[in-house]
This record gives sequence, C-alpha cells and structure tokens, in this order.
Amino acid sequence: MKKLQFLALFMTTFAFFAESYAQQGDPKATEIWEPEPKVVTPSEANKAPSDAIVLFDGKDFSNWISSNKEGGASKWEIKDGAMSVAGGTGDIQTKQTFGDFQLHIEWRTPAKVESEGQDRGNSGIFLQERYELQVLDSYQNRTYSNGQAGSIYKQTMPMVNAAKKPGEWQMYDVIYTAPRFHPHNGAVASFAKITVLHNGVLIHNGTIIQGTTPYVGTPQNIAHGKGALRLQDHGNPTSYRNIWIREL
Ligand code: MG
Repeated sequence: MKKLQFLALFMTTFAFFAESYAQQGDPKATEIWEPEPKVVTPSEANKAPSDAIVLFDGKDFSNWISSNKEGGASKWEIKDGAMSVAGGTGDIQTKQTFGDFQLHIEWRTPAKVESEGQDRGNSGIFLQERYELQVLDSYQNRTYSNGQAGSIYKQTMPMVNAAKKPGEWQMYDVIYTAPRFHPHNGAVASFAKITVLHNGVLIHNGTIIQGTTPYVGTPQNIAHGKGALRLQDHGNPTSYRNIWIREL
C-alpha cells in the first residue's frame, strides 16, 4: 500500500472511531442550561403575547404621529376598534423606533371594490420607514407581481397569493432583521432580511431586501439606525387593527 493511501485510510478510520466515541460520550456535554429562554405567555387569536409592545389596541393613536413634515397627531379615523386611512392626510408612523423585530399586523381593504390594480385598497407597511411590505386588495386583482399584496414593493413578489376577499380581515406576521452598515463609510455590511406569513401562509422566507422601495427607480442604501413603523396613505380607506411588535 502506498504511503498516501495508507494515510487516507488511517484518517478515515480515526474519524469514524472519534465520531463513534463522541456519540457514546456524556450526553450532558451537549446540553445548554444557561441562559434559559424567558417565559412568555402566548395569546389566543393572535392578540399580543405578554412581552410585546402593543402599537394599536383599537382605541387611540397614542403611539402614532403623522409622518408629514410638520408631524403632529394622526388624522386617520378610528371606528369599531380599527384605524382607517383618511385619504390625503398623509402617512402615519410610530413614535417609537425599532431595529430587529417580530411584527403582527392585521389589515382590511374596502369591501366595496371601486377600482383595480394598484388603486384597490392600496396601503403599505414601511419597515424602518423605508422598506415597503405592500398592502393591496390582491383578490382576483392582477397587477405587477412585485406590487401585489405581500410583495417587497418593486423588488420581490410573494411566493404565493394568500389574499382574502375585499372587506375581510387579513394578517401579516413578519420577522425582520435590519440592515447593518459599516460605521466608517456607511456601506452596507449586510442587507435587511424578511420572513413573512400572510394569513398564516409563508410568502417570504428570509428574503433579502435590496434597499429602499421607490415607485420609480432602483433600491437605495443610505446608512440608518433604528426606524419607525410607517403606514401608507395611498388614498384608499384601508384599515388596520391589532398591531403589536416584539423587538429582538
Ligand atoms: Mg402601497
């Protein structure tokens, strides 16, 4: 047997026995006890778990401000435990800012269908004020695929269309990892990443967000820190309720 062949055989045999030995060793060697995950009380019917920040509980806009330059209070409407876009009053956003988070948000497009394409129940959830997860009535309503409900607007279409009928409550459950930027030059160190369930159906699984989501042009990447959650006024009276977030 040549030297090299012998060496290879020896190494393989050694690796095999080392592996077997490890499997027979102390099971405690691979147990992790500290830290212990914090106990969180889950909830029924997608209400906020015990450690979430409730951003909207159906009663008031205490956690929200207008996104207009002048700021001030939200001019959207609250009725029957839901907030609705008051067209022309502008976007609204949370007072608090967030980095990485888990978000639950419920939305409803108008029951009465009055238009089509991008004008049907259009709104949007801007993560960190910049990256739009599209809200749209996408029930039998064809538009560009990377502009339908659940798309990362003008970037990535959802894996499937899990839309409910207009007038029905829908939900997004979002797991978001913020982008990181190099401190010395502001270049992207890692892009934002998003996982989304639409009405319980996975539509994004760690999708990379390539940058901002403008109507015209390509994604931009300008270094930023934490950002607010912003809801879009696109002129359609789309509604929201039961919004909660868990910072990670
Ligand atoms: Mg939109």
